[in-house]
Amino acid sequence: MAQEATNKLIREDFDAGPSSYNEIIPGLFLGNLTAATDIDWLKEAKIDYILTVDSCPIPRKIQEFLPNLTMKYIQITDMPREDLLTHFEDCYEFIDHALQLNNKILVHCYFGVSRSAAIVIAYLMKKYRKSFCDTFEAVKEKRRFVGPNAGFLAQLKLYEEMGYGIDNTNIQFKMYRLQIAADKVRKAKILPQNCAELIKPDPALATVRPEPTVYRCKKCRRIVASASNILPHMPKEKQIWRHISSRKTSKQSKTLREPLEPVEKEEQQPAEFCSKILFVEPLAWMPDITHNVEGKLNCPKCNTKLGSFSWIAGSQCPCGSKIAPAFYLVPSRVDWSNAVQNVQVTV
Ligand SMILES: [Zn+2]
Ligand SMILES: [Zn+2]
Repeated sequence: MAQEATNKLIREDFDAGPSSYNEIIPGLFLGNLTAATDIDWLKEAKIDYILTVDSCPIPRKIQEFLPNLTMKYIQITDMPREDLLTHFEDCYEFIDHALQLNNKILVHCYFGVSRSAAIVIAYLMKKYRKSFCDTFEAVKEKRRFVGPNAGFLAQLKLYEEMGYGIDNTNIQFKMYRLQIAADKVRKAKILPQNCAELIKPDPALATVRPEPTVYRCKKCRRIVASASNILPHMPKEKQIWRHISSRKTSKQSKTLREPLEPVEKEEQQPAEFCSKILFVEPLAWMPDITHNVEGKLNCPKCNTKLGSFSWIAGSQCPCGSKIAPAFYLVPSRVDWSNAVQNVQVTV
């Protein structure tokens, strides 16, 4: 919208209250939309970089008043199920670049409380290799009403657990991404193209470094899953990934990264894992999973029913765990086998 005589840009839905900002570390400001559109203040504070984490960008017109301004925009709403985590790295680079050049940067959302605060906390956690709790407290000391929503809090904890980066082998991160995809399936009734990478290659067709430990169809011996495709869960677990997470996860996930031992070697299997149902990642041999909400999973070779999938309702394991989305194999229909057995088998 137009510029007011007071040198402030306004937006149709604009009512973020008075200008509000705090300098969290030298050069890094966290604030609201009003601050981000207050040209007098931006000039006075010598802000050269603005990172907007909001449902709307700030008016482009702002660059007419601040020609040296570098802007970055992340479109996101302040909902617990929004994916902020996969933007952390990108935002880190942007903020760090500005600070390295001794520039001043404002990170803002609508109120400067949830979304932008989460981005600033993630930046500081990685920069100083500090825990989420310590960083959250430190930011609160500078801006007392910061409060990322419950989903963002859980994402920040997962970020810490992954060592301030993205660990694609982390079980909780895999479940996190599957849930984001499931939300899209819920809306569109098909899996969007940009989620296609979540469907893992058919382990039976792996020619480069095939995994030594696999699950096979009991009837025809076709490989249906590798150890790394398994998403282990614990008895009565509500969800592998939880948006509102209060439990301590770091110790558990360390164990979760290790491949599951075969069922026969009961004594080597970590006691806490449930073996009643084998939850796995979505795999390329599974028919219909990209354009159906739920269905059966039959062996691609002999057509025996091996399990089921459900993007939205998920599945209840006999142990009491509720996993969603769920892609699972019934243990009585599959066998565990190792590399020695693999040699003589064809697809
Ligand atoms: Zn089969
Ligand atoms: Zn179970």
